[in-house]
Amino acid sequence: MRPPDLLSDVIDLVLARSCVRCSRLGRVLCPRCLEDLRGRVRHTLIDAAGDGLSLHVHAALPYDEGGQDLVLAYKEHGTRALAPMLGVLLADAVEAATRAAGCAGAVIVPVPSHPRPQRGFDALGGLLRCARTDLDRRGLTTHVRRAVRSRGSSLPMKSLSGAQRRARAVELFRAGRPLPTGEPVLIVDDVVTTGSTVRAMASVLAAMGADVFAVAALTAVGGTGQPG
Ligand SMILES: [Zn+2]
Repeated sequence: MRPPDLLSDVIDLVLARSCVRCSRLGRVLCPRCLEDLRGRVRHTLIDAAGDGLSLHVHAALPYDEGGQDLVLAYKEHGTRALAPMLGVLLADAVEAATRAAGCAGAVIVPVPSHPRPQRGFDALGGLLRCARTDLDRRGLTTHVRRAVRSRGSSLPMKSLSGAQRRARAVELFRAGRPLPTGEPVLIVDDVVTTGSTVRAMASVLAAMGADVFAVAALTAVGGTGQPG
């Protein structure tokens, strides 16, 4: 057992936590449930929606097959101890995306958090740190670049046309740190719902000259794609 696991086990037992999925006393997501949730990565192609962009989305878990419950527990109910386990699931999605594109690694651009997060923590950042630790163990090289920044607004884009989305993307995001030239870029988010946010991200990154090959997410709504 690795030291971080041991520490996590001790903390979980001292706090008498139980699994958010099966209620077994011990870890906030027990090893049996985590293994049961793995191997469900789904690939979906988000259509261009008139904006000239077509995105491959790889999500570790369908939203209605446990994804929603885990995200609510982690983000809304503040069960931050879930981060290492959810990080493993996110790492599965990142690995699937890079292997599908034939990439040996990737520059990860996370969807930026709101400058003033409601619950005071960077939920995606926490997941990504854990995911990258797991990816390192798997020998997959990733670098994180916060190449896109939030302007602080969050407006729904579901009903907008492609042109309106492009305009809204400029309102939502701005270019951040420059990207290394020619490196394959992977957008990472925790939840993909309508796809509007990642489409907007891709628009901004395309304007920066980035080569976005896919999106990796912990969970995604819907999708008719094949596993992988
Ligand atoms: Zn369990």
